[in-house]
Amino acid sequence: MKIAFVVPEAVPYIKTGGLGDVAGTLPVYLTKLGFNTILILPLYKTIKDKNLELELVEKGDVKIGERALPFSIYKHKEAQVYFIENDEFFLRDSPYNTKEGDYPDNYIRFAFFSKVSLDFIVKKGDIDVIHVHDWQTSILPVYKELFYPNSKEKVVLTIHNIGYQGIFPKDVLKEISIPPSLLTIDGLEFYGNVNYLKGGILFSDCVTTVSPSYAKEIQTKEYGFGLEGILRKVRRKLFGIINGIDYSYWNPKVDKFIKVNYGKDSIDNKKLENKKLLFEELNLNFPLSLPLFSLISRLVSQKGIDILIEGFDDIMKLPLNFVLLGTGDKKFEEKLMSLGEKYRSKFIPLIKFDEGLAHRIYAASDFFLMPSKFEPCGLGQMIALRYGTVPIVRRTGGLKDTIQDYHEKTNCGNGISFDEYDSFDLIKSVERGVKIFREGKSYKKIQEIGMNCDYSWDSSAKEYLNLYRRLKEE
Ligand code: ADP
Repeated sequence: MKIAFVVPEAVPYIKTGGLGDVAGTLPVYLTKLGFNTILILPLYKTIKDKNLELELVEKGDVKIGERALPFSIYKHKEAQVYFIENDEFFLRDSPYNTKEGDYPDNYIRFAFFSKVSLDFIVKKGDIDVIHVHDWQTSILPVYKELFYPNSKEKVVLTIHNIGYQGIFPKDVLKEISIPPSLLTIDGLEFYGNVNYLKGGILFSDCVTTVSPSYAKEIQTKEYGFGLEGILRKVRRKLFGIINGIDYSYWNPKVDKFIKVNYGKDSIDNKKLENKKLLFEELNLNFPLSLPLFSLISRLVSQKGIDILIEGFDDIMKLPLNFVLLGTGDKKFEEKLMSLGEKYRSKFIPLIKFDEGLAHRIYAASDFFLMPSKFEPCGLGQMIALRYGTVPIVRRTGGLKDTIQDYHEKTNCGNGISFDEYDSFDLIKSVERGVKIFREGKSYKKIQEIGMNCDYSWDSSAKEYLNLYRRLKEE
C-alpha cells in the first residue's frame, strides 16, 4: 500500500503552524508501520535556500485555464519527498501571505500545485491513497473527478482548521479549468463565490479532521464557518482522528534546544534551572519562586487573544510571571507590546517566530495557556504535557479531547480547563493555577499525570492506517 501526501507545508522543510508538524510527522510514523509514503510539497524560496540535494524527475508545462504553466519536479535525494517548482508562484518570502494579507494569486498557485501533483501521481500509477490537507490542496479531488474519473486512487482530505476555506471570486473558475456546471449549491459555490474546501469535502472519498470533538463541532453553526450543512450531509464519511506530536523531537530528555535536559525523575530541579536560564537569555529579573505562565501561539482571535487581553490587568494582579511568544494580527501584536511596557516587571511579549526559544519556554514554564475560542486539535497543550508544564485550556475541540480538568478529591486530571469563552473564566483558571502551584502537592500530581500521558503519533498513525485500508477495500 502506498500513500501520497500532497501538502502545502511539512516539517522539517517548511512550517507555519500545526499542519506543518502533522504533515511532516505522520508520514514518518506510517513508514515506521511498514507503509510506503511519499510527500509532495511546493518548492518555496525557503526550501530552495536550504540547498538540499535534489534530483530532477520531470519537467514540462501544465495547461490550466488558458495558460501553459511551466513546472519542474525534483526529488530530495535522501528522502521520499518531491518538490514542485514554479518560481513565479513559489519563490516568495512566505508560503501564503505577506504582512499586508494573502497573496492575491493563491487561487492559481495552489490549483497549479494540486494539478501537477495529481498528474504526477496518476502517471506514477503505484499510489493507492492520496492524502490532501486543507483548502490549499482541496482542488485535487475535484480535478481527479474531472480529469481522471476512473483512476484507482482514493482521496482523503484532512481539515486542520475549517476557519480557512480558500474562498475566491467565482471568475477564477475559468482560470483554473473548472467548468461552470460545478458552480452550484451542491458544488463549489459558496454565497456567490468559489469555496475550495467545499470542493474537497464533496469530492474526497473520506474527510477527516484532527480530533473527535472537532469533527462533531464543525457540524454546528457555531463552529462550521458556513460549511456545517454540507458536513452534516457527508457525516458518514467524516471522522475525527486526534493528532499526535513527534515524541523523538519533543522530548525534554534529549531536546537540543535546551541546555539542561530532564525527564520525569529529574523534573524538580532541572525545570527550575531551565527557568533560570530562560530569564538570563531574555535578560529578565523575574523571581524564580513565582509560577511562570507562558503562551506560544499565532496571535489571532481563534487563539483567545481577545479574552487574554481583556483579562490582562486582573491576571497581572496575581503573583505570577508571564512570557508570551507569537506573531500574528497587528492589533494584537501592538496591544501586547504596550502591555509589555506597562507590566515590564512581570510580563514579556516576544513578537517573533522562534522554534528554539519555543522549546526553552515549554521547558521553563510551570503553566501553558491555550484559551482558544475554537481549537481543531492543538499541539501546544500536548507539547506542554511532555515538558511537565501544566496546560490551562478552554474546553473545546482537541483541547477537550486531550486535557482533563484536575479534581482535588480524586487526584485525577492532567490540566486545568474552563468552559465559557470569556475573560472571567480565564482569570479564575489562572488564579486556580497559582493556588495549586502554591500548594505544591497537587501541582506535582498534575505534572506527573501529564508526563505519563501518551500523545505520540503511535496510536493515531494506526487509526489512519485502518482508514486507508478500509478505503482500499471499498
Ligand atoms: P496552529 O496550527 O493553529 O497554529 P497548534 O497548537 O496546532 O496551532 O500548533 C502550533 C505549533 O506552532 C506548535 O508547535 C507551537 O509550538 C508552534 N508555534 C506557534 N507560534 C510560534 C512561535 N511564535 N514561535 C515558535 N513556535 C511557534
